[in-house]
Amino acid sequence: MNTEKIFGYIDSMRDEMINTLGELISHPSFRQEPEEGAPYGRAARECLGSALEICEKFGFKTENVGDRAGLASFTEGEPLLGILAHLDVVPAGDGWVREPYKATVEGGKIYGRGAMDDKGPAVSVMYAMKALKDLGVPLKHGFELILGTDEECGSSDIKYFREHRRMPRWLFTPDANFPLINIEKGRIESRFAAPCRSKKLISLHGGKTVNAVPAFASAEVEGIPEAEIINAAAGSGCTAEFGITSEGGRTKIEVRGVSAHASTPAAGDNALTALIKLLSLINIDEPAKGLLSGLAREFPYKETDGRSAGVATRDGISGELTLVLSVLDFDGENLGGAIDIRFPVCETAASVCNKLDAALKRAGFEARSGGSEPHCVPSDSPFVKTLLGAYESVTGKKGECIAIGGGTYVHGIPGGVAFGCEVEGEDNRIHGADEFIRIDALVENAKIFAAAIAEVCNSDSL
Ligand SMILES: [Zn+2]
Repeated sequence: MNTEKIFGYIDSMRDEMINTLGELISHPSFRQEPEEGAPYGRAARECLGSALEICEKFGFKTENVGDRAGLASFTEGEPLLGILAHLDVVPAGDGWVREPYKATVEGGKIYGRGAMDDKGPAVSVMYAMKALKDLGVPLKHGFELILGTDEECGSSDIKYFREHRRMPRWLFTPDANFPLINIEKGRIESRFAAPCRSKKLISLHGGKTVNAVPAFASAEVEGIPEAEIINAAAGSGCTAEFGITSEGGRTKIEVRGVSAHASTPAAGDNALTALIKLLSLINIDEPAKGLLSGLAREFPYKETDGRSAGVATRDGISGELTLVLSVLDFDGENLGGAIDIRFPVCETAASVCNKLDAALKRAGFEARSGGSEPHCVPSDSPFVKTLLGAYESVTGKKGECIAIGGGTYVHGIPGGVAFGCEVEGEDNRIHGADEFIRIDALVENAKIFAAAIAEVCNSDSL
């Protein structure tokens, strides 16, 4: 393979790539009301149509799969390799300086919703394919580009695709990070509750989403001296900040911590478990006191590995289990909440659920827990090595595998890894305001993908 020729050809298409990304960004393809022939809304369907039309112009065979996903390929026969990108986005949200749905080219960057997640990477794949096709690079095995339109809202596009089409033996998604993510921990979500009435605990709220460390929690108590609460806060050893105010026999306790994604809880400071600790130290009536003390014992403040609940485990390739008590609410009748666990490949979802449910039972709660198994493609597999080799040859940087606690677009798809496109040290503001991709990266990613496709599809060991 003459890589210089391929890379030169990709360089020559730089302006065209910018325009194509601009066209895709112009569709506000976040999930909207379903319409006839547009299960995720008209904009997502139009964005898919536009991408498939461009692929057709390049001379690829294309196919619309149930208005949910698209296929593009120029090779014959059963594909060995698939590349899975998505064209849906999250809504723009607030704070944009540029226009979210109109590409702005400025300072070597392209701004717009989806520029990095995941329209830019999809464009890089399309131009990698165009280079290989136009230059007649021989490929022994087939490959295909799969374009989904529901990644941000639960990946029902891929579920549908797998029910109607076969996934290639190997695939990667350019919808995460370089160099390459080969391990994604398993995930458990648990909901628990117990009947609870109290004369002293009036209200308690902490956390809104299961998959985040709560930065704020609050409670109201009655008939407990303020001095007792202030003393308990001071003696709790918590770094989260307590705000305590009293009026007419009622005391309001507000706790401010630091939010973090549930897959990296050590980066946060859990306001909710700090509040639980404080409440377990003051003289509340039963059964509230017993339930809160149980939670404080099984899921202590500042503990993120589930040790006390008996679920802690770790392995050499995916690291340690993480646990976050992320939601708790008291409505006057019931005390209930939620827990998020990410567990390493040495464990199974059923075994973690059993241990967690037992811990919640010890604390006095009934629990319903469920989740997904870990995802792993061995780091020494020829597929992973081939992709990392392509990455190293184009960027000159070291190619290494990464294990994460989150899940990517290929979670649960056998033979799937995440390959691109964010890099450490650069915040492309995905899901935020003024999302961007560097134009140099858009072009370089196309070279990495062209090299990866050519090498995987000409390999004799895959
Ligand atoms: Zn994405």
